[in-house]
Amino acid sequence: VDAELHNLNNIIDTVYPLILAQTLKEEKQLIFERGNILETKVDDKEIRQLILNLVRNSLEAMSSGGIVWIRTYMENKNIILSIQDQGPGIDKAILDKIGTPFITTKETGTGLGLAVCYNIADRNNAYIEVDTNSSGTTFKVKFETKED
Ligand code: ADP
Ligand code: MG
Repeated sequence: VDAELHNLNNIIDTVYPLILAQTLKEEKQLIFERGNILETKVDDKEIRQLILNLVRNSLEAMSSGGIVWIRTYMENKNIILSIQDQGPGIDKAILDKIGTPFITTKETGTGLGLAVCYNIADRNNAYIEVDTNSSGTTFKVKFETKED
C-alpha cells in the first residue's frame, strides 16, 4: 500500500461532503464527532473507500430519519474510527460470515463492501470490531498510532 502519515480527521473531511449529500438525499442525518487523535500511517485512498463502504451500509440499513455517527477518538494507544447507525442490526444468519465475499442479504447487493473493508484494514494495520444489536450497529476500526 501507499502508506503515509495521516490524521484520520483530514481523510474524513475529504469524503464528508459526498457522504453528507447521500445522507440528506435519503432524509437521514450525519453526525461527525471529531476527536483529538494522533496520526497514523495509512493509504488515504483506501481509508476513504473503507469509510464510504461502511457509511453506505449504515444508510442502507436505516429508514428516513435515521442517524449515522462518525467518530474519531483515542482508546489507549489506538486510534479509533467508528461508524454507528440506528439500523435493525446485522442479520444473525450472516453475522459470523460478514467480510466473506458475496455474503449479502440485499436483493441487489454484491456482498463485497465489507470484504473490501476487511482487506483494507488488513493492509493498513487496522483491525475491525463489530457491535450489533436490534437497535443499531457500530463498526469500530482500530489503528496503530505508529508503524515505522
Ligand atoms: P452488500 O452491502 O452489497 O450487501 P456488504 O459486504 O457491504 O455487502 O454487507 C454484507 C451484509 O452485511 C449486508 O447485506 C447486510 O446484511 C450486512 N450489513 C452490513 N453492514 C450493516 C449494517 N450497518 N447494518 C445492518 N446490516 C449490515
Ligand atoms: Mg455494502
